[in-house]
Amino acid sequence: MNSGMTEYEEEKVSEEKVSEESKKRIHSLKSLRTAYTLLVLLILVSAGLITACVYIILYTLDFIPSSALTPLKLPVIVIVSCMLFGTLLAVFVGKLFINPLRRLIAANEEIRQGNFKVRMSEQTVIGELNNLMRSFNSMADELEATELFRNDFINSFSHEFKTPIVSIRGFARQLQKDNERHTLTDEQRKEYTDIIAYESARLARLSSNILTLTKFENQQIVTDKTEFYLDEQIRRTVLLLEKQWTARQVNIELELQEIRYNFNEEMLAQMWLNLIGNAIKFSPTGGTVLVRCRKKRDAACIDISDNGEGMDEKTLHKIFDKFYQCDTSHKSEGNGLGLAIVKRIAELANAEVSVKSEPGKGSTFIVKLPLASE
Ligand code: ADP
Repeated sequence: MNSGMTEYEEEKVSEEKVSEESKKRIHSLKSLRTAYTLLVLLILVSAGLITACVYIILYTLDFIPSSALTPLKLPVIVIVSCMLFGTLLAVFVGKLFINPLRRLIAANEEIRQGNFKVRMSEQTVIGELNNLMRSFNSMADELEATELFRNDFINSFSHEFKTPIVSIRGFARQLQKDNERHTLTDEQRKEYTDIIAYESARLARLSSNILTLTKFENQQIVTDKTEFYLDEQIRRTVLLLEKQWTARQVNIELELQEIRYNFNEEMLAQMWLNLIGNAIKFSPTGGTVLVRCRKKRDAACIDISDNGEGMDEKTLHKIFDKFYQCDTSHKSEGNGLGLAIVKRIAELANAEVSVKSEPGKGSTFIVKLPLASE
C-alpha cells in the first residue's frame, strides 16, 4: 500500500510512534507505582481494622480488661501512625524498583536508536532486577559486537572488491591511451595485461568464495550425502593442487588410513582444498606438508602440518574471521575467506577444527570428524 509518504517521513512517523509507546510505558509505570501504593495502604487499613475487631472481640469476651481500651486513643494512634509510616515506606520501596525499570526503558530506547554503548548498573538492591540488568547488558554487548563485526565486514568487503577493480581500470586505461599514442614498450604492455589477468582472476576467486560461504551459511541441513573414502578424497585434493606444490617445490607426505565417511563429498573436498592449499601457500620453498588421516575412537582425525612461518597467539584468534589475512600486503594469494568456509563446513559436519602453531615452527590444523558408531 502506498500512502504517498517518502521513506524519511515514514521513518519519522514510526519513530514518533515508538516515542509515544515509551511515553505510554513510563505512564503505565507511574500508574503501577500508584496502584502499588494504594494496595499497601489497603493492606494496612485492613490490618488496622482486623486488629481493632480482634481487640473488641477479646474485650467483649472479657479476655482483656477495659483499662486496656481506655483511653481508646492509644490503639488509634498506633493504627494511624502504622498506616502513615507503612504508606511512606511503600512509596520509598516502590521507587527502589520502579526507578531502575524507568532507566531500563530509557536504555532500550537508546538501543533502538542505534546507541549500542548504553549499559545499566547491576548494583540495584533487588536481585531479580540485577539479573534483568545483567541480561540487558549482555544483549547490548552482543549487539555492539555484531555492529562492529558488520561494519568491519562491509569495510573489508568493499576494500577487497575495490582494490582489484581500481587496478584493472588503471591499467586498462593506460593500454587504451597507448592505442592512440604508442608510448608503451612491449614489456610494459605485457606487464599491464598480466596484472589485469591476475587481478580479474583474484576478483573471480573472491566472488566464488563469497558465493560458497553465503551458500554454506544459509544452509542448515546437509543434502546429497554419500559414502566415500576420506583417504581417497584427500589424495585427489593433493593431486588437484599439484601445480601449486610443484611450483614451490614443496614435498607432500601422506599417511592415510582407509576411512569410509558419509557426508556431502563436494563440501568436504572444499575443506581439504582450503586447508592443504594454505599449508602449501604458507610453506617455504622446498618445505614439507604432512597430511595424516587416522581413526581415533569415534572420530576421523585429519591433521595437516606445514613447516612454514607459523602464527602467533593474536593471529590464531582471528584466522577464522571473514576477510582476515595476517599479511595485509596481500603478498600471498588469497582473500581471507578460506578458513571462514572451513569453519562453516565443520559446523555443518559437527566437526571440530583446531590449530597448533608457533611463529617460526610451522602450523598444524586438526579436523575431527565424528564417525557414526558401527
Ligand atoms: P587466505 O585466503 O588469506 O589464505 P584464509 O582464511 O585461508 O585466507 O586464512 C586466513 C589467514 O590465516 C591467512 O591469511 C594467514 O595469515 C593465516 N593462515 C592460514 N593458514 C596458515 C598456515 N598454514 N600457516 C600460516 N598462516 C596461515
